[in-house]
Amino acid sequence: MSAPAERPEGAAERHARLVELDQRHLWHPFTQMQGWLGEEPLIVERAEGSFLVDTMGRRYLDGVSSLWVTVHGHRRPEIDEAIRAQLDRVAHTTLLGLSSVPAIELAAELCRRAPRGLSRVFYSDSGSTAVEIAAKIAFQHWKQRGRPEKRRFLALGEAYHGDTLGSVSMGGISLYHEIFRPLLFEVLRGPPPYCYRCPLDKRPESCGVACADELASLVERHGSELAAVVVEPLVQGAAGMITQPKGWLRRVREACDRADVLLIADEVAVGFGRTGTLFACEQEGVVPDLLCLAKGITGGYLPLAATLATEEVFRSFLGAWESDRTFFHGHTYTGNPLACAAALASFEIFDRDRTLARLPSKIERLASRLAGLSGHPHVGEVRQRGLMVGIELVEDRETRRPFARARRMGHRVILQARERGVALRPLGDVIVLMPPLSIEEDEIDLLARVVAESIEAATA
Ligand SMILES: *Cc1c(COP(=O)(O)O)cnc(C)c1O
Repeated sequence: MSAPAERPEGAAERHARLVELDQRHLWHPFTQMQGWLGEEPLIVERAEGSFLVDTMGRRYLDGVSSLWVTVHGHRRPEIDEAIRAQLDRVAHTTLLGLSSVPAIELAAELCRRAPRGLSRVFYSDSGSTAVEIAAKIAFQHWKQRGRPEKRRFLALGEAYHGDTLGSVSMGGISLYHEIFRPLLFEVLRGPPPYCYRCPLDKRPESCGVACADELASLVERHGSELAAVVVEPLVQGAAGMITQPKGWLRRVREACDRADVLLIADEVAVGFGRTGTLFACEQEGVVPDLLCLAKGITGGYLPLAATLATEEVFRSFLGAWESDRTFFHGHTYTGNPLACAAALASFEIFDRDRTLARLPSKIERLASRLAGLSGHPHVGEVRQRGLMVGIELVEDRETRRPFARARRMGHRVILQARERGVALRPLGDVIVLMPPLSIEEDEIDLLARVVAESIEAATA
């Protein structure tokens, strides 16, 4: 049980009042509110390093980096200080018609660190908008290249690219996206490299990554009408941490090159060290034409997103004012200076702490601490890439039959974990672990131990 650390005076009364107001006024994202109203919510009051502290003074290890955003831990003095210093200059100014110091500095820093060839930064404020912007840029790019018929997109089954209608159009998770189908544009769908439940019914030992061939042939067949292929490199996050076989991404890039189709890499989840390198594309030596970044960009502090483009793409938007080649898109808070200052401070921490160099031993430790789970009768598969983990629970290990949806097994596991002082958020019956990159060794051990105990308790 998580020990109530220091319970402040009157905490219980205040907590009860907040619960009452939450249940009366808040509408939580991706949440069936009928179920929410019957449960005791965990209300975060503050945080420190890898831990969240609730209104009752209880501490929880932040096992999913506050929904995949926290990079260097909570309340990093360097980021706190950078935001305060920027606050003493100005909180917000616009990039429409003006520029700002932190937006300029960060754009240069992003281009310096991103795969070589990405030289332009278009800011927005969420992963959804970063992807939406990439799609609109790709579409307009081809129109201005005299190829207006290249206007379609190819995305993967089980893809997740955000929740605005454009990014939902590219998404392929039927549970989230089906209801909106009548509002969406049509997208070509390639097979996700989901080896545990192979869409081509093959086995990973002998398939030769046949799903990449299938995707490549789709790209070639439809090349003349395709603006872009959009993928989440190395790990399809919201799909349930589907990890891609080695060489898969490289082959998608080559197919795009052969068919003259742009590649959009959605690194909203996998970017900023989660897979072991700053950007996931690096591991396959791939340079996308458009790179979408958000979640971890500010170290998990403030909403900010960026869509990076090559000079080649950027150049098709140049022309006289009356040529109508302008990219008519922009959000009011585009390139917010406080957020950019936080992002710059986060990069400095990457350098000073040698965050990436220290990852391999953490990744290894997490893998070894989770190894025992593979034999559990209700664990179908443990997938890991870097510090991103998905543990797929099944009712029957032999047949890989899932639990009935109504049992909400993933949810039950995370309620058990919460009792034991770890905060998690599952994806259906996939238990997701995505701790901050700053997680310490003993915290990795705690995380793995609690997850094992919680799976045991929930499935017993
Ligand atoms: C979270 C996510 C998005 C959407 O980001 P938001 O900031 O929630 O809009 C897009 N793509 C991927 C891969 C994501 O994981």
